[in-house]
Amino acid sequence: MTLNLCIMAVALPYFMGRVNRAARYAQTGIVLQTAGWISLFSSSATVPGGWADQLLSTIAMGCVSSGMVFNAMAFQIWCGRKVSARTPAAIAVLMTVGYSIGFANYPFRVGWANALLALQIATVIVELCRPPTVAVGRWRWLLAICLTIQMIVLACRAVLGAFYTAEFPNFFGPYLVNQIFALSSNSMMVLSVVAILLAHRDEAARELERLATLDGLTGVLNRRAWLLQAGIDFASSMRYRQPIALLMIDLDYFKQINDTHGHTVGDGALQLFASGLRAVSRTGDVFCRYGGEEFCVLLKCADLNAVMAYDQRMRQWLAQHSLQELGFNLSYSAGIAMRLHDEDTIDAMLQRADFALYEAKSQGRGCTLASSVRLTA
Ligand code: GH3
Ligand code: MG
Ligand code: MG
Repeated sequence: MTLNLCIMAVALPYFMGRVNRAARYAQTGIVLQTAGWISLFSSSATVPGGWADQLLSTIAMGCVSSGMVFNAMAFQIWCGRKVSARTPAAIAVLMTVGYSIGFANYPFRVGWANALLALQIATVIVELCRPPTVAVGRWRWLLAICLTIQMIVLACRAVLGAFYTAEFPNFFGPYLVNQIFALSSNSMMVLSVVAILLAHRDEAARELERLATLDGLTGVLNRRAWLLQAGIDFASSMRYRQPIALLMIDLDYFKQINDTHGHTVGDGALQLFASGLRAVSRTGDVFCRYGGEEFCVLLKCADLNAVMAYDQRMRQWLAQHSLQELGFNLSYSAGIAMRLHDEDTIDAMLQRADFALYEAKSQGRGCTLASSVRLTA
């Protein structure tokens, strides 16, 4: 098992390349556990009960238990939670200190170390079983099973070591419990690494999914993701017979802004505009960057007055912020389309909003017009 751990401790950081925080914690956890086991084996080569034995064994306990703390922190991140592993960390410190103090007493130190390691693993299992805040795969259960088996074995070792010391002299004795311990630890170690890699892949997939839905410059939804959400909201507005409004926005004279102030300032203007949308939007308003300098907002349960009010809030926000932050006034033209009848579609609403927007442009820009097209079913 120690050999396998050594290989993993070197191979994972080397072949995984640059990784994020969670994976780094998991790698650190494996490195610490490896160091712990190497230390434990080294201690058996020293005079039993001597100072070197005590030092190396204590280091081993410290490494193994802090390795679990790092793993616990990685699991927290992978479950979408804040990094916190206070309880496993406190148990690691308590276990290591107690082990060192009571080192001379063999039954105590074996019972103490194994019992507290089992307790530490129990706290990690409890955390793993809490519902995650992001969608995670089945690696969570694989890990929970591995840890549970390890916890049971450790608890058995604690009882045997503390109360049946004569029948449980040391690791290397040819006892069934030792063989079970060796086999389960080895296979659980391999499975834990599989689970860690699955968790890492899960997280990478989530990140890709997130990036695929957002616009890289402004951080708001992109057109694809917005259309998906708009379809859902549109269907529900139909189902519950609630009004729904679409506002299509196009920034005015944007080419001129780029030409006069440069592309970077143009980018900044788009980002500022997106901040404005975030600031004036309310729950249920879904907005996106529809294209270059065009944005779309879908307002659930909004009648014409509500969408006009939204437009006014946005114009006020821009008047307050654009001159100050960009050095010039940023203005836009917009078209509004309301859902009209049962056969209406998002595509038809987009077309009407686009037409109204075109009208707003022809009427001199800087204004918002509502589509007056009335289609009959
Ligand atoms: P109008 O008032 O009629 O809408 O005029 P306009 O100049 O805003 O419209 P036009 O379609 O002629 O130009 C849009 C400009 O938006 C051209 C394009 O270079 C610029 N643009 C599109 N995407 C980006 C971007 O990501 N960053 C920057 N800086 N400019 C962009
Ligand atoms: Mg345009
Ligand atoms: Mg424009």
